[in-house]
Amino acid sequence: MNAAGDIPLEELLADARACTACTDLPLGPRPVLQAAAGAKLLIIGQAPGTRVHATGVPWNDRSGDNLREWMQVDSAVFHDPARIAIIPMGLCYPGRGASGDLPPRPQCAPRWHPTLLAGLPDVALVLLVGSYAQQRYLGSHPQGVSGRVQSFGAYLKEGWFPLPHPSPRNRLWLRQRPWFLEEVVPALRRQVHALLR
Ligand code: SF4
Repeated sequence: MNAAGDIPLEELLADARACTACTDLPLGPRPVLQAAAGAKLLIIGQAPGTRVHATGVPWNDRSGDNLREWMQVDSAVFHDPARIAIIPMGLCYPGRGASGDLPPRPQCAPRWHPTLLAGLPDVALVLLVGSYAQQRYLGSHPQGVSGRVQSFGAYLKEGWFPLPHPSPRNRLWLRQRPWFLEEVVPALRRQVHALLR
């Protein structure tokens, strides 16, 4: 049930999947998300890319491969909505700009997150992947994503785990910050495996 206690999660998911509020999306509305009652882990990323839009399967791309590698989970576990809920900042592919995909539609998270997240009372850990999710749920940080990720232990106490976007385009970010693979990823795996076992 959601915060009002009167709308089942299945109904909220059906409503979100039927959303056509953004009439100017380049490939049209196709909300991609997964969730089921009992999920303990929630991933809030950015927005689907073209491959995810085409298949309707969240994180079904190279970014998803990298995220699963960081989490050390296979696709069967990752795509089991009763274990892992996936609700991005923008549920639909937003289109392409000069330097990659456009930002998630700003109206999407305010429209869908409050009720959907309220319908997932068993979630104990939320992975905030990339700047848009972190900005919404953690607020600003003088060092942006790097600062939040490096301070992950402080956020973990509140049930948040900030991560960089796992896009192959972020290889340079990773190379310049060896502490991420050495310290943050092992901690992420411990948290994820403790919840999913
Ligand atoms: S981006 Fe969000 S608000 Fe816009 S059509 Fe898709 S689900 Fe609806």
